[in-house]
Amino acid sequence: MAYGGLVVLRGIDLDVHRGEVFALLGPNGAGKTTTVEILEGFRRRSAGEVRVLGADPERGGDAWRGRIGLVLQSWRDHRRWRVAELLTHFATYYPDPRDPAELLALVGLTDQAGRPVDRLSGGQRRRLDVALGIVGRPELLFLDEPTTGFDPEARREFHVLVERLAREEGVTVLLTTHDLVEAERLADRIAMLVGGRIRVCGTPSDLARRAAAQAEVRWTAGDGTARRERTKDPSRLVWQLHRDAEGPIADLEVRRPTLEDTYLHMVHRADDGTDGAAPAGRGGHT
Ligand code: ADP
Repeated sequence: MAYGGLVVLRGIDLDVHRGEVFALLGPNGAGKTTTVEILEGFRRRSAGEVRVLGADPERGGDAWRGRIGLVLQSWRDHRRWRVAELLTHFATYYPDPRDPAELLALVGLTDQAGRPVDRLSGGQRRRLDVALGIVGRPELLFLDEPTTGFDPEARREFHVLVERLAREEGVTVLLTTHDLVEAERLADRIAMLVGGRIRVCGTPSDLARRAAAQAEVRWTAGDGTARRERTKDPSRLVWQLHRDAEGPIADLEVRRPTLEDTYLHMVHRADDGTDGAAPAGRGGHT
């Protein structure tokens, strides 16, 4: 994908399966929004093939669009509408909408039903965005940085909601986020996009395993000095320590590589330019 002469996506090849929560991670400027906008049909791609729910998003008609829900980064329309009125109004656009009152309960906004939209807190506003995104019972839901600015409690409630949509209703979710804990908690699979390329893609535990980052083992030796060693095989190291020690090992601690270690490793490796070239512009589909 190129904007004028600037190539921003360099051969993205990804499949999102029906019913999964898929997270797209990457630093600012990596190409996440461009990718998501191509999949949503809001942006024309300069090359490549994309199928979303069986259709090319550039040619998706109203029926196709009705099967997709969007929670975009920020749109601030409808400030003067009251919450329940706005939902009821949006529901009329869809053939089989959710009941607005049930939807308010689902996103935890029942008490705010009569409030104007511009009186909601940031977290409540975001939950209203989600409610608007799912009022038409989408099969596929795009969530673009959905919890930016949430406090921990609102974030947790939001995660429960997304899990419910995915697990109980089989909604496919494509999520972009900067929050690695969020990705790890919600996503069945994660792709890391850096410099317009997918660097890794897999389940959260795949990614941690594939990282060149090693586990770190710390302990206090018999002479009282703190020791630290990095290893790909921490259980073997711990076994050796026990074998060689005369008594218990003090302060033993094993730290596995986290998703954050993997992420930072990928971002830095990309900065070093240690990756190969790939053909331009393929897309993903469900
Ligand atoms: P992300 O969402 O990961 O932050 P974006 O997809 O927004 O990344 O941007 C990827 C690159 O494309 C950036 O270098 C950005 O400056 C550039 N870009 C994004 N949109 C446009 C546009 N409409 N015209 C020109 N360049 C753009």
